[in-house]
Amino acid sequence: MAEQQGRTVQGVNPRSGEKVGEPVPETTAAQLAEMLAAAAAAAAPFGGSPPAVRIGLLNALAGRLDEQVTALSDLAAQESGLPLPRLTGEVARTSGQLRLFASVVADGGYLEVITDSADPAAVPPRPALRRWLEPLGPVLIFGASNFPFAFSVLGGDTASALASGCPVVVKAHPSHPGLSAELDRLARQAVLDAGLPPGVFGMVFGDQPGVDALRDPRVKAAGFTGSTAGGRFLFDIAASRPAPIPFYGELGSINPAIITPAAVAARGAEIAAGFAGSMTLGTGQFCTKPGLLFLPAGHGLDGALRDAVGAVGPAPLLSERIRGQLSAGLAQLSARGDVEELQGGTAVPAAGSWAAPELFRTTAAAVAGDPASVTQEHFGPASVVVEYAGAADLLAALATVEGSLTATVHAEPGDGFDLPAVLARLREIAGRVIWNGWPTGVAVTWSMNHGGPWPSTTSAGHTSVGATAIRRWLRPVCYQDLPDELVPEGLRDANPWRLPRRADGAPE
Ligand code: NAP
Repeated sequence: MAEQQGRTVQGVNPRSGEKVGEPVPETTAAQLAEMLAAAAAAAAPFGGSPPAVRIGLLNALAGRLDEQVTALSDLAAQESGLPLPRLTGEVARTSGQLRLFASVVADGGYLEVITDSADPAAVPPRPALRRWLEPLGPVLIFGASNFPFAFSVLGGDTASALASGCPVVVKAHPSHPGLSAELDRLARQAVLDAGLPPGVFGMVFGDQPGVDALRDPRVKAAGFTGSTAGGRFLFDIAASRPAPIPFYGELGSINPAIITPAAVAARGAEIAAGFAGSMTLGTGQFCTKPGLLFLPAGHGLDGALRDAVGAVGPAPLLSERIRGQLSAGLAQLSARGDVEELQGGTAVPAAGSWAAPELFRTTAAAVAGDPASVTQEHFGPASVVVEYAGAADLLAALATVEGSLTATVHAEPGDGFDLPAVLARLREIAGRVIWNGWPTGVAVTWSMNHGGPWPSTTSAGHTSVGATAIRRWLRPVCYQDLPDELVPEGLRDANPWRLPRRADGAPE
């Protein structure tokens, strides 16, 4: 384990480039060892705690976030450059998400309790079996920069892991260290006030300490929201440990949107405006930003698209690193002979990390010819219009588009376009298929799926948003012929936790 004593993480205001607050010291090797020992010690008592304990903790965290919304949002605005109203809304989303997971715990269905009674007369004789899901143990969460509340310290990964009964260690994102430190204090106090072991929540600062934590055998699973490159790097570490662990990476996504000729004819201007709003929301720093807009050749929407995208002014990106990556990626894209700029970026302030929206144009044939470079995600307010000559041309291009969190279709009722074929392909590549809407905005609900095939995630079987996100932190355990008093409390015959159960094949 590398010693990081003396290093710090400094917040920077992306609007001005000025430092925010005091630098936060990186976690030392000794502090990390202590934190992971505490997390390991908390795993059994927290994992076995009755639902009311975890419900209480989740609701307390939600209440504290709501109480401190003004101070927390102010700090987040300084470190992220995001507008205050967006951040206060994000706090409400995050506390709502914590409360959703409290209701998931109260419901109990997530534990998938299934029992089979013994049948000595069966051939071969059948034992008595009780199966349910149990928490994996300490979980390491790498939060993202673009949602400092909803996908960071107390975001969906942490909420779902705590709901499952797993202690959580968060790797703080370097783009909001001061906010992370505040949320760490808030969470640790809530844990103590709930009478839980202190190891239920911890926080790591620093790149190398995050990697050291991922390599530690006491960590039993990891969640990550961030770039494909960073996610892949960490996934490989998780997989190559002597004891590999599940690594749930929510990564970058291109989110194709397909517009049929009939939709263009019926509401072209509305579609152009909706698309521009979606691709520039949060200065384009949404993992669900529509990065490819497939339009029929001769669509006639150039003016409407230019006006709509050009009407959105410049805004600060989350960090200088993201600004640098965006401009390097767009320079490569616009240098291609088969890509042209439809709407160029306007002037931006020199200080800070600002960007103005940009729109590019290419053809479906260019996508099919070099998908790896034309369909690369550009994190920020930039997207590519892809013009297709007909359904076959569109499908040939879509055949090369990789896994995505979302795919969107705009069509009309009775549209003559080959929608079944388009939808069949979109189902293969996307975790959420959207009809006549836009992909930005991920509702926090029981049914939401926020995931998809590689490279949008490292684990297409799971979601990071919505009630079923809890499934990532659990594993099945089946007890055969154990006396009632020796199985975990929630599995006992009297069903003291009032869990929904399937007994001998039928719901109870
Ligand atoms: P990021 O730079 O990959 O950072 C995410 C976290 O991982 C940070 O804590 C970062 O810490 C750590 N990390 C990344 N690479 C690392 C490495 N090589 N070694 C150690 N730690 C590493 O991502 P971001 O800039 O915050 O977010 C932008 C990306 O996230 C976009 O591509 C966006 O599409 C994606 N995103 C996806 C979702 C989703 O749900 N799928 C949601 C939001 C955002 P350090 O910086 O200290 O290394």
